[in-house]
Amino acid sequence: MAHYNYLIIGGGMTAASAIDGLRETDANGTIGVITAETHKPYDRPPLSKALWTGKKTLEEIMRPATHGNVTYHLGRVAQKLDLSGKQVHEDHGDTHTFDKLLLATGGTTRRLPFGRDDVIYFRTLADYQRLQELAKQHETFAVIGGGFIGSEVAAALAMNGKKVSLITPENGICARLFPAEAVAFFNDYYRQKGVEVITGESVVALEGTGVNLTLATKKNRRINANGVVAGIGIVPNVELAVAAGLKVDNGIVVDQSLRTSHPEVFAGGDVANYFDQALGARRRVEHEDLANTMGKAAGQAMAGANVNFTHTPFFYSDLFQIGYEAVGELDSRLQVIADWKEEFHTGVLYYLDNQRVRGVLLWNVWRKADEARALIATSETVAASALKGRIAFE
Ligand SMILES: Cc1cc2nc3c(=O)[nH]c(=O)nc-3n(C[C@H](O)[C@H](O)[C@H](O)COP(=O)(O)OP(=O)(O)OC[C@H]3O[C@@H](n4cnc5c(N)ncnc54)[C@H](O)[C@@H]3O)c2cc1C
Repeated sequence: MAHYNYLIIGGGMTAASAIDGLRETDANGTIGVITAETHKPYDRPPLSKALWTGKKTLEEIMRPATHGNVTYHLGRVAQKLDLSGKQVHEDHGDTHTFDKLLLATGGTTRRLPFGRDDVIYFRTLADYQRLQELAKQHETFAVIGGGFIGSEVAAALAMNGKKVSLITPENGICARLFPAEAVAFFNDYYRQKGVEVITGESVVALEGTGVNLTLATKKNRRINANGVVAGIGIVPNVELAVAAGLKVDNGIVVDQSLRTSHPEVFAGGDVANYFDQALGARRRVEHEDLANTMGKAAGQAMAGANVNFTHTPFFYSDLFQIGYEAVGELDSRLQVIADWKEEFHTGVLYYLDNQRVRGVLLWNVWRKADEARALIATSETVAASALKGRIAFE
């Protein structure tokens, strides 16, 4: 049985940042990391972007292992959290004890009720490597889901000369995020880039095996592919927390010091439900910026620092040559006021609820996330007509 001053379950970006935060505050305490993955922490966003365009290599996405006294238990799943004994039991039969624990367990991809392991549920480095191998040898791919992951993976494959069909039950690319006219623009843009965008269609079955696969849709369309990728969302990995009796409500509930309902157990990243000051609401967010900032703050808090974490993270995406950053609530059901310099090329989109700005999308506009965050934080009522020019951009 190994004992750690700080034990972390999960080996993603939140865990990596927590180690940075711990070491800033405590140079020597022992740190243990239990992670189901067989790799040490790495940055996930390049898996669907920079690794496909050659902007980054595998070595460059690995998080620097600069801190001493960190023990990794790779390829191991924590199965039980015993709070009274401050112990974690994992699937190789080992038990680890801790003074302080961080749950950085992220999320697991939602799965379709068919297709077994013939579908690549794109989340990890192993998923990237599997798709990359397939793409080296085969030409035709189907991507299920038009959200962040589906739209990025479809673009990545198409940029590598692959024939790609993207199937979404919604009206197009990132339909839950963008207003209808931007979705229509992206559908056309993807089609011009050679992607077959199939909207308003649900996949109901997968036939065949190996690299000879056929998807069947509800409206009886059949789509052949050598590889099938799905990006249909994640569910937070809260099982350990639930079984241990921690408070869970759309994620593991944490206070502003990132403590769970147990004083020596902390949580952060995709799995945590926290209070976002600018939005004035609790939320669970799946963004890199949150994994990095909240992970670091959680590490500092575990090591005894005074932490008051209420950050509103930004997120970003690259879809072929179009990039954006965004802050706050981006929900296409909100009222959206667009301030274009050039339509669908450069502009700022304001998302309003009840005359208050709740989210801002910066479309090929950079270094304005702080201004967007400040605007959301004012929570003042604004007339839609007063928004144009509110965030100045070139
Ligand atoms: C392909 C891809 C592209 C992305 N692109 C962007 C982007 O452009 N912009 C952006 O803002 N965000 C992006 N994201 C989201 C961002 O990467 C996540 O928000 C971030 O990685 C979350 O980190 P995390 O450490 O909280 O969780 P995760 O990354 O999910 O890590 C959790 C870790 O815990 C491990 N684990 C879980 N349960 C257990 C257990 N019981 N025992 C042991 N180990 C366990 C898992 O194996 C995993 O290693 C992207 C995500 C993906 C998958």
